[in-house]
Amino acid sequence: SFGDTDAQREVRQNDRGYVFHSWSAQGAINPLPIAKGEGATFWDYDGNEFLDFSSQLVNLNLGHQHPGLVKAIQEQAGRLATIQPAMANDVRGELAKRIVEHSFEGARSVFFTNGGAEAIEYAVRLARQSSGKRKILSRYRSYHGSTGTAITMTGEPRRWANDVIDGEVVHFFGPFVYRSAFWATTPEEETERALAHLEQQIQLEGASTIAAIVLETVTGTNGVLVPPPGYLPGVRALCDKYGILLICDEVMVGFGRTGEWFAYQAFDVKPDLVTFAKGVNSGYVPLGGVVISEEIHNAFVDRPFPGGLTYSGHPLACAAGVATFDIFEAEGILERVRDLGARVVEPRLREFAEKHKSVGEYRGTGLFWALELVVDRETHEPLVPFNAAGEAAAPFNAVVAACKAAGLWPFAAGNRLQIAPPLVISEEDLVRGLDIIDAALDVADSYYTG
Ligand code: PLP
Repeated sequence: SFGDTDAQREVRQNDRGYVFHSWSAQGAINPLPIAKGEGATFWDYDGNEFLDFSSQLVNLNLGHQHPGLVKAIQEQAGRLATIQPAMANDVRGELAKRIVEHSFEGARSVFFTNGGAEAIEYAVRLARQSSGKRKILSRYRSYHGSTGTAITMTGEPRRWANDVIDGEVVHFFGPFVYRSAFWATTPEEETERALAHLEQQIQLEGASTIAAIVLETVTGTNGVLVPPPGYLPGVRALCDKYGILLICDEVMVGFGRTGEWFAYQAFDVKPDLVTFAKGVNSGYVPLGGVVISEEIHNAFVDRPFPGGLTYSGHPLACAAGVATFDIFEAEGILERVRDLGARVVEPRLREFAEKHKSVGEYRGTGLFWALELVVDRETHEPLVPFNAAGEAAAPFNAVVAACKAAGLWPFAAGNRLQIAPPLVISEEDLVRGLDIIDAALDVADSYYTG
């Protein structure tokens, strides 16, 4: 029924009639009905085509309908569609093995979950249960998921309405040179001051009470914040000094987004626990998990781990995860991410920053970038205020609307256009999408007041 407007209407009717949507006032939304997807492109039922620069929710790393992923799920469904987690299963074991083999030195095992928030919940539980300590330090400008502890750990407005589900979470500021919390002007200064601040906070909270420090290796939705040189090794050193575990949240950046299997691999840092989801199988079947160090694993060799999920290590999801490793290798995905990021995206964004006065800063790595839109380059005043809604958000919404009208589905967050296309996007499509953003930035420029 592709192209059939009646079908489009019917999908809308049932959606607005019966589906309760996340993060939304139910009366104020009009979700776009999607009929089909292929690679980096999806279509509505009227045949309107969108190039996806957001990989859905930054999960669709291998694009829509990748034949290798579809085949792996179909074959697994024909063989054994489900099996409970207390039994051993071939694809579950194979996927855990491949993840461990591609992880940090000393990685020992994987606990599988149904998604990212659960991965965070279980990483925290592993940290608390193995250390005997309770407190968790997480950063402002972070998103860790919408379940109890994960939403409390989140350091942005989505937490506010849910405060405080877990009373043993404390937030700290990480590095962000463009909007420094430490009056720093260089990455070196920012690293030094952010680490000094964190050390004071550890001392004042009490190292003996802190189980873990949790951070997104490269902050995702809150701005594509790439850690400045020395920051992550510095956090690791503080963790070692004070006997605290380090959890890297790689739900958004794991599995190729930054051109590495895991983003931490580019930053000379060894975590104790790593959360993943999204890219592990591009979200074809819900899957997440935690990579566990030998030391933490060994804490549960003689005593039982108190936790579990009916669908932990679901065979359909794991089959797609194993296929993901095969596809990454066969198609040279990590190499192409690094190449496209450095050769196509970075130079073009540099050009945007020269040409468009509304681009206060561009930053990123691999196929993960952000354009920080401002009305004044001197003051760094954002195009729209922090957490803007309604009329206040209109300038940014106009930029997003210009992208969509030209057939580009952007990753829009706050005052930022973020760029996170499927890792399989063709160079031609990547350039076409950047051309659309180039034109949409004229709209952003029209609001410039500086
Ligand atoms: N952690 C990070 C860094 C994320 O970006 C997300 C989702 O966007 C989550 C955790 C939560 O994952 P999920 O939505 O699968 O629960």
